[in-house]
Amino acid sequence: MNTIHLLPDLVANQIAAGEVIQRPASAVKELLENAIDAGATKIQLIIKDAGRTLVQVVDNGKGMTFTDARMCFERHATSKITTADDLYHLTTKGFRGEALASIAAIAQVELNTKRAEDETGTLLLVEGSQVKEHNPTATQEGTSIAVKNLFFNVPARRNFLKSDAVELGHIEEELNRLSLIHYDIEFSFFHNGKLMLQLPVSNQKQRIINVFGAHYKDKLFPVELDTESVKITGFIAKPENAKKKKNEQYLFVNQRFVKHYLLTHAIETTYKELIPEGHKPAFFIEITVPPNTIDVNISPTKIDVKFQDDRMIFAFLNAAVKKTLGTLSLIPQIDFNYDPQYDFSGIKPKDEIKPPTLTLNPNYNPYKSDRKPSTSDSWEQFLSGIKNETITTHPAESEKLVFADENKEVIDETQIKCLLFSDAYLLFCWKDVLQILDVKAARERILFEHFLNALENIPIVIQQSMFPETITLSASAAEIVNDILLELRALGYDLEQIDRTSFAVNGTPVDEESSDVQQVIEQFVEMYKTHQFLHKTDKNSAIAQSLAKQKCSFLLQIPSETEQQAFIKQWFQCKVPQVSPSGKKITKNLTNTEIQNFFE
Ligand code: ADP
Ligand code: MG
Repeated sequence: MNTIHLLPDLVANQIAAGEVIQRPASAVKELLENAIDAGATKIQLIIKDAGRTLVQVVDNGKGMTFTDARMCFERHATSKITTADDLYHLTTKGFRGEALASIAAIAQVELNTKRAEDETGTLLLVEGSQVKEHNPTATQEGTSIAVKNLFFNVPARRNFLKSDAVELGHIEEELNRLSLIHYDIEFSFFHNGKLMLQLPVSNQKQRIINVFGAHYKDKLFPVELDTESVKITGFIAKPENAKKKKNEQYLFVNQRFVKHYLLTHAIETTYKELIPEGHKPAFFIEITVPPNTIDVNISPTKIDVKFQDDRMIFAFLNAAVKKTLGTLSLIPQIDFNYDPQYDFSGIKPKDEIKPPTLTLNPNYNPYKSDRKPSTSDSWEQFLSGIKNETITTHPAESEKLVFADENKEVIDETQIKCLLFSDAYLLFCWKDVLQILDVKAARERILFEHFLNALENIPIVIQQSMFPETITLSASAAEIVNDILLELRALGYDLEQIDRTSFAVNGTPVDEESSDVQQVIEQFVEMYKTHQFLHKTDKNSAIAQSLAKQKCSFLLQIPSETEQQAFIKQWFQCKVPQVSPSGKKITKNLTNTEIQNFFE
């Protein structure tokens, strides 16, 4: 008996659909791609119940004719390619003409579409591949496709779907992959009637910030390379922002999000010595090559790409990222071949300055020191201490620490006149020397020493709270916090563990400026983690430095006019006033002689 038979259309279609449409997010991807291919400048994504009951995309693109509206649901019906050869000159996201046919096989679909040049639009209802209605209708220009009750006729698949949170996560990821590269298109995203995300047209950097949040503002550094065969643009994040778990890694080839192991490796390998093992750097890289040098027709979801010459792309990408990392100002922070605690020169003479290197000494400990901490309370002691240790060994005249007071007189800070420059620097004179102080770096130094003192000597006073709020952390963050509860208490944060990931905030530092303890602790832990891995400093230093960094990293607080002198005094009193705990120079001096020489 013959056993081979043809599958009924519907079954065949459902099987094919399974390849393309695996979950609501796949429908989101296909519909958004079609809207982009249709030249839309404004796209709305409307979701209900994490896509189970509704996935709808409304665009202002070119729309379809009455006949095309019917045709588009046929398998292998596409307007985007004609011959097989076209596969090698693709400029559109879609090309197989499969997506809408697949979606229509497993859902109830309502299409409304109208071209600008047509009087009326078209309404089409399809259900399980069956056309239920096909009529002229009044509708706005562009196309709206609503996919209702996905997998209504394939219960097995429906039961495979994960929780709403997971499905919604996949949907957001698909939206990110498209919106991050099509920043010239306005996107809005609604879930259950609530506006979740609104992305106005912007440049790529702003789009990244709009998608992932303002904390990306100072983290992104441009990557650029332009050759005849490949153009590379985009942004990479600083090594210290690398995370252990999944990170934002977006690689686009000819405006298509792709996964490419080798190219990801080309980027990650440049970070190798800058981030702890297992950490992932964030990147948003766009690679543009002639369409005929790549093949994207190798996987159903078109997420893989084959290059004619991937080793060449590897080399260019690697070089481009390296260049950016090499020119970043963060290099002094990671090039810890010298010990800032000992090196009071701040900087070596010009001809000795080495080009930036990406080497990192993993055993370096900037805070381990045999040098007795100076206990100077008066400026006099402080300054004479500095003088003895440093002035004689100074290589560069201009970089001398010239605060030393020859006559050991006590300095009166009220005599110092300050000027705030560019909202970032304090200028003031002392004994014929013009000092330029970087406020942020100085503040980080002051806070670091303040926190270290709290950990080692006098704890910060705690303001007990009448109604303790609860904060909830990730499991790994909670573990770290649990490990340093005593230290946090010394810093004024009185936390008490409630369950595995929640803590009651029984008290905060008296002088706490932030009202968002959750945020402070989260950001602090994030920095502490990175810090521990990177520098291997002792626990107290790492904690003090991370908290100082947390306090300085967001809003730059400028000392008001009345606070400036006190601020300078606090800075004077630091044990290591020249460099910030993260290794940045804090001051620049100009001596009288230097200024005179300049004018001669
Ligand atoms: P493909 O995108 O591979 O061509 P699809 O099944 O996704 O296949 O779409 C079939 C065709 O329907 C497209 O080629 C296009 O002509 C038309 N189409 C789909 N969505 C839209 C839209 N939003 N605006 C205009 N035309 C569309
Ligand atoms: Mg398509």
